[in-house]
Amino acid sequence: MTEIVDNNRPKPRAGIMDIAAYVPGKSSAPAGVDKIHKLSSNENPLGASPKATAAVKAVAEKLEFYPDGAATRLREAIAHIHGLNAANIVCSNGSDELLGLISQSYLGPGDEAIYTEHGFMVYKIYIQAAGATPVVAKETDERADVDAILAAVTDKTKIVFLANPNNPTGTYLPFIEVRRLHAALPAHVLLVVDAAYAEYVRRNDYEAGVELVAANQNVVMTRTFSKIHGLGGARIGWVYAPTHIVEVLERMRGPFNVNAVAIEAGIAAMNDRAHVERTVEHNAHWLDWLTQQLTELGLRVTPSVGNFVLIHFPEAEKHSAARADDYLSARGYILRRVAGYGFPNALRMTVGTEEANRGVVDALTEFLKS
Ligand SMILES: *Cc1c(COP(=O)(O)O)cnc(C)c1O
Repeated sequence: MTEIVDNNRPKPRAGIMDIAAYVPGKSSAPAGVDKIHKLSSNENPLGASPKATAAVKAVAEKLEFYPDGAATRLREAIAHIHGLNAANIVCSNGSDELLGLISQSYLGPGDEAIYTEHGFMVYKIYIQAAGATPVVAKETDERADVDAILAAVTDKTKIVFLANPNNPTGTYLPFIEVRRLHAALPAHVLLVVDAAYAEYVRRNDYEAGVELVAANQNVVMTRTFSKIHGLGGARIGWVYAPTHIVEVLERMRGPFNVNAVAIEAGIAAMNDRAHVERTVEHNAHWLDWLTQQLTELGLRVTPSVGNFVLIHFPEAEKHSAARADDYLSARGYILRRVAGYGFPNALRMTVGTEEANRGVVDALTEFLKS
């Protein structure tokens, strides 16, 4: 297409062209690699529940019908399993969509929203898309720092985004710290707790945020089916929120934002507790194993409670993260570069199948000898 530069052509709102578009994890390896292990997007190595797959096949026969715009049965399934009120749940096309809707609803030009130094990149994009100003709070030891977040609050602050656990670090804030953060925020500041990896966390001092939402007017918790349920391709997220916020999001969302395939897959996945259990067990075992093996290789691994590890590489150029990434890709292991998250010399690896985990450790053993 020939682009004729015409100064009268349509122009986007101020600030939109300043957004650095999201770059997803790679999904391909160089030509000639026959088997690929995709460990770049924190997908479930056990796949989706077979019950979800069966539900999708069944709905494939009825695609002419619009879905239930309110996703009522899906919200009820979530509410039943999590012990929540379905009226305080809004579902979405991935939790990304909700983060965007929340930003569009509560932020505008002149407002500020805070996220942490190595926080999930999507927050910045949505803050900018709403015309507001992103404010970064420093982390301490690659973990959100409540005091730094509170120090960043001004009279312009409207939202604080907290990924707990965070991606790509895998670190988390104990619930007592999340409470301390909330207690010190002004009442008009919305605390968005993004608990995308909540199901994986096995720590007594962790809570996803349900109680905090239930007891307050300025906290929401977002969740996703993309990680524990292995349904990243179906795009399903949800938020648990006070009624006044639900009333806002109901006005802002698309009328059929969760499609019929997603609804059926989500219900089946939510009800397949055995698959969730298997996934949690698999992850707990291999997360420990990977952390130990990689540490023994002399690589620093940020302590993770999620389904991924952040691996830091040595200073020496020949063993840099970029070189390691090339070396692993050539052998079919696709990890995630995280320079954009402030980690130029690290790679994020999803906990994979036994074969993938052992394969990466073997390949890195060779790489570090080379
Ligand atoms: C993967 C992820 C999500 C989930 O995104 P979806 O749009 O639901 O697939 C949300 N937050 C964080 C921190 C994540 O890593």
